[in-house]
Amino acid sequence: MKQIILTGDRPTGRLHVGHYVGSLKERVELQNSGRYDEIYIMIADAQALTDNAEHPEKVRQNIIQVALDYLACGLDPDKSTIFIQSMIPQLTELTFYYMNLVTVSRVQRNPTVKAEIQMRNFEASIPVGFFCYPISQAADITAFRATAVPVGEDQMPMLEQCREIVHKFNSIYGETLTEPEIVLPKNQACLRLPGIDGKAKMSKSLGNCIYLSEEPADIKKKVMSMFTDPNHLRVEDPGKVEGNPVFIYLDAFSRPEHFAEFLPEYSCLDELKDHYRRGGLGDVKVKKFLNNVMQAELEPIRNRRKMWEGRLSDVYDLLKAGSEAAEKTAAATLRDVRHAMQIDYFDRDDWMKL
Ligand code: ATP
Ligand code: MG
Repeated sequence: MKQIILTGDRPTGRLHVGHYVGSLKERVELQNSGRYDEIYIMIADAQALTDNAEHPEKVRQNIIQVALDYLACGLDPDKSTIFIQSMIPQLTELTFYYMNLVTVSRVQRNPTVKAEIQMRNFEASIPVGFFCYPISQAADITAFRATAVPVGEDQMPMLEQCREIVHKFNSIYGETLTEPEIVLPKNQACLRLPGIDGKAKMSKSLGNCIYLSEEPADIKKKVMSMFTDPNHLRVEDPGKVEGNPVFIYLDAFSRPEHFAEFLPEYSCLDELKDHYRRGGLGDVKVKKFLNNVMQAELEPIRNRRKMWEGRLSDVYDLLKAGSEAAEKTAAATLRDVRHAMQIDYFDRDDWMKL
């Protein structure tokens, strides 16, 4: 069986370091592993419109930002097909058919959708499109016959929902769709990177992000203002490492060579954590180290982005070519789906009888 990746991001803002550790980094590694026959990376503008219907300009402006962030991180248009979701009309058609296979109460049970509805204060005014986005995500994944979907932990319920739809579809209409596997980051700290304010998830909608394209002075300002252990008031106080965003970021980003370069009095992160727990290690020192680590990690990404910013017409061309290629793939799946569902009226005339 062909090994195929499909994943993507909503163009609601520039991408941040949560996206990077949660999914982008893994994608680039998988892309370069040579283990995949096809890789599709989707800029999910139609999904972004489900909770931004009144702000089409926001979604439109952010397509280029997300594309630049992709290229900056090392997604390579020669190896990965980067495309824009709404340019593939087959995805909407598939969503419409899948809606018949899912109950309202099943969508209501989705914990990520529940949390997002609460976060957006939708209460009784949830747009139907937003409510159904897990179904449209199942259409995205299956249209490309994806076998692997590298995403952050918040996407687990979406993948579960997708697999249920695949089962149901195949059991009613016959084996047609491919069941995908979720690919989560191996590093626990990367599953759901908290915001710099200590909130459970760094998210564009919460404004608690360090963006991939952030300038060095802004990275420093954000790192130095980060939330830490609120009970660690004086340097000599013992501190808590668990749930402390600064240490979660170090878990996500630091490598042994960073210690040799920036903080040689410690050999590894465990040693630093032990000192913090015992007391006698100040937040400022730890944050300064984290700042150095983040600067080292983000500098090459920012530089690659600047290079692509000077080649915008190439970015336009690669998105157009990617969208055309993606439409071909989705159209082939749609043909199979229509055949399986017996709605391919003008391909066969067996129904033309009394
Ligand atoms: P929005 O607030 O508009 O929903 P977002 O910041 O949640 O934006 P998405 O575009 O919804 O970003 O998510 C894209 C991908 O990045 C998904 O695979 C998601 O799991 C992953 N991701 C987003 N935020 C984080 C995070 N803080 N930690 C780990 N992974 C994340
Ligand atoms: Mg999100």
